[in-house]
Amino acid sequence: MRILIVNDDGIYSPGIIALAAVAREFGEVTIFAPDVERSSTGHAVTHSRPLSYRRTPIAGFEAFRVDGTPADCVAIGFSIAGKADVVLSGINLGLNLGNSMWHSGTLAGAKQAALMGSRGIALSAPSPEAEPTFDLLKPRLREVLTALLPSDLTLVNVNFPAEPRGMLWTRQSVRHYDGKVVPSKDPMGRAHYWFTVFPIEETEEGTDRWAVDRSYVSLTPLRLDLTDHEALAAQLDKKAI
Ligand code: MN
Repeated sequence: MRILIVNDDGIYSPGIIALAAVAREFGEVTIFAPDVERSSTGHAVTHSRPLSYRRTPIAGFEAFRVDGTPADCVAIGFSIAGKADVVLSGINLGLNLGNSMWHSGTLAGAKQAALMGSRGIALSAPSPEAEPTFDLLKPRLREVLTALLPSDLTLVNVNFPAEPRGMLWTRQSVRHYDGKVVPSKDPMGRAHYWFTVFPIEETEEGTDRWAVDRSYVSLTPLRLDLTDHEALAAQLDKKAI
C-alpha cells in the first residue's frame, strides 16, 4: 500500500513523525508537508504563484517540504511521487472536532485526497502543554489504521483524546460559536484583533466532541457532497421554480 503523509503543522512537527512511524507498518510511506505551519488554512490551494518543494529526509523517512498548503501538498505529492492509495493527514497538534472541520488544514489534506480520487484520513490529538511524544496514542493509532485502511471508506476524520479507552463511530458535532474578534494593541500601540471561538450550544450525544469528551477515539465518516439532501427534496416537492 502506498501511503502519502501530509499535515498542516509543518514538516518538523513531532506529530507527522509519530504518524509515519506507525504508518510504515502498513505500507510504503512518503511525506510531503508544508515548510511552515499552515494550521486553520482550510482547503486553500495555491493558484496565483508556482509551487516548489525540497527534499528534506526526516527520521529516516523520504520527505519533502512544500511552500504551500496541505491541499497543495497532496496535489504535488501525487504529481511527483505518484498517486497514493491513501493519504494520512496529521497527527495534528490540536483536535479537529465539529465546527473546526470547516477551518482545518489537516482535514483539507484528507479531503484533497478524496477529491483527487484517492482516500483520506485526518488524524488529530489534543495539543499537550509538555513536549508531545504520542507514545500513549501509538497503540490506538495502530488500531485505527488496522480498522480503516482495509475499509472502503473514502474520507474519515479521526480525533484522539489524551488517554483513549476505546473507539466510537460518531457524527460531526454542529454547534455554533460566537466568533468574536477581541481587540488588543501591538507593542507599537496599533490596534490588532484576535479571532476567538466560544461555543454556544452544548455537545450532542453521538457526536465527535461527545466521544472525545468521554475519552474515546472518534471516527467520523465524511463525504464531499455538501448538499442538504432533505432541503433539496423539500424544494423539489414544492416545484416552485
Ligand atoms: Mn495544525
